[in-house]
Amino acid sequence: MTMIDDNGVVHVAMLPSAGMGHLTPFLRLATFFLSHNIKVTLITPRPTLSLSESQLLSRFHSSFPQVDQINFKVESSLFTQSPNSHMPIPYFQMIDHIRTSAAKALSPLLSSLSPPLSFFVSDYFMLSSVLPITQSLSLPNYLLFTASASFFALYSYFSTLPSSLSELEAVEIQGIPPIPISSIPPDLVAPNSIFKKVFIEDSSQVIKVDGIFINTFEALEPEVLEAVNAGKVLTAMPPVLPFGPFVPCEFEKEGDQWIKPLKWLDDQPRGSVVFANFGTHTEFGWDQIREIADGLVKSGSRFLLVVKDGKYFNGDDKNEEVGLEEVLGHELVDKVRDKGLVMKEWVYQSGILSHEAIGGFLSHCGWNSIVEAAWNGVPIFGWPQRGDQKMNAEVVKMSGWGTWNKNWGWIGERLVTGEEIGDAIKVLMNNESFKIRASKIKEAARKVMTLMV
Ligand code: UDP
Ligand code: UDP
Repeated sequence: MTMIDDNGVVHVAMLPSAGMGHLTPFLRLATFFLSHNIKVTLITPRPTLSLSESQLLSRFHSSFPQVDQINFKVESSLFTQSPNSHMPIPYFQMIDHIRTSAAKALSPLLSSLSPPLSFFVSDYFMLSSVLPITQSLSLPNYLLFTASASFFALYSYFSTLPSSLSELEAVEIQGIPPIPISSIPPDLVAPNSIFKKVFIEDSSQVIKVDGIFINTFEALEPEVLEAVNAGKVLTAMPPVLPFGPFVPCEFEKEGDQWIKPLKWLDDQPRGSVVFANFGTHTEFGWDQIREIADGLVKSGSRFLLVVKDGKYFNGDDKNEEVGLEEVLGHELVDKVRDKGLVMKEWVYQSGILSHEAIGGFLSHCGWNSIVEAAWNGVPIFGWPQRGDQKMNAEVVKMSGWGTWNKNWGWIGERLVTGEEIGDAIKVLMNNESFKIRASKIKEAARKVMTLMV
């Protein structure tokens, strides 16, 4: 199969797995391909994990009707109700079903596409189910790694590690700082998780792809990028291309809902607001939400807080402030309203981070959130909750534009008090060196972008 067909058309098929953290960078990369006259076919598992994903996909396809859209059905007993109901199902169970369904559906689908495909872009959670198919079609397969280069180093090195990590103090990979076991995703340390199974199956396949796109850039992770591309992590490493920062696109704005927080921010002084948002699937208990609200009030800063309570999955997340009074109590609600805005719905995070009133970000450290904050030069206080997030928080700390508190633990490990959160925000909002480093990172991000277009 040639890279360009007889009519000069370059055609790519892309297959994101599940979760906004994967879909968003795939769609941003697709937008880049489209702007370079590459024909895009987007293959998506259905039903999506969350309503936000199906809504984002609709907006993407309305903005780019030229993109061919192919769905494949995820065969799963998890979907016993209507196929469009978005249920809170365990993320990796869903990934497991997508992997099995893709392995069955993909082969006839890819060979029937017209014009013939020039290359394929895989998700790193799908590699071992997709690679045999693209290999049998002699189709170049590139990996879009939607997390950090640091996490990529761990992912690609993983199959060489001992099967039990719990006895180690740290994972040592040549060329990068040791990763303490306490920062490794607990599901990779646990003996039998699906996440670990996916990692083990896919990690050894990395050397077979034609190249790896990562949503990062040189100034953000210089040491790790040098190590992976110098063959220190794996000697047979395919080319790793720092392709970030992936920046927000127009189609990501949803209806009018994104306007409200931006309007509120318009009335706040420059750099005065701390933005507290914890990604798409961090569900704090109400007791923790109370402490967060208390901490934000104690910090003395103005704030924009986004809370998610699980309704995100079934689409019933539009009732802003419902129940807030019951949860926080009258006294705290009054204080909160005095200094802050609380949203209980999906917000347009990239737009918020780009607003000049934002001075700091209390973040769960999902990788997309980190890159978006870097793009906008917003210092971060990290509150990693799960997965790769402690490693991401460490990336920020290492490059000097934020910090995190190792004692806060993984989600649910302990209640982090309002006092601690308030103190953390004071550190974040008053640290001049974070601000200077964050604006340097922003400058570097913008510079990369001018070279890429
Ligand atoms: N996001 C958003 N509004 C929200 C929550 C999240 O726009 O209320 C976006 C955010 O900008 C990012 C993605 O959803 O692009 C979340 O990805 P990330 O890797 O930060 O975290 P995850 O949700 O995957 O843990
Ligand atoms: N995870 C990820 N990307 C996503 C969603 C989840 O890397 O878009 C990671 C997450 O950070 C966690 C792991 O997958 O460490 C396992 O997720 P889990 O099964 O606990 O997800 P849950 O069902 O609790 O949302």
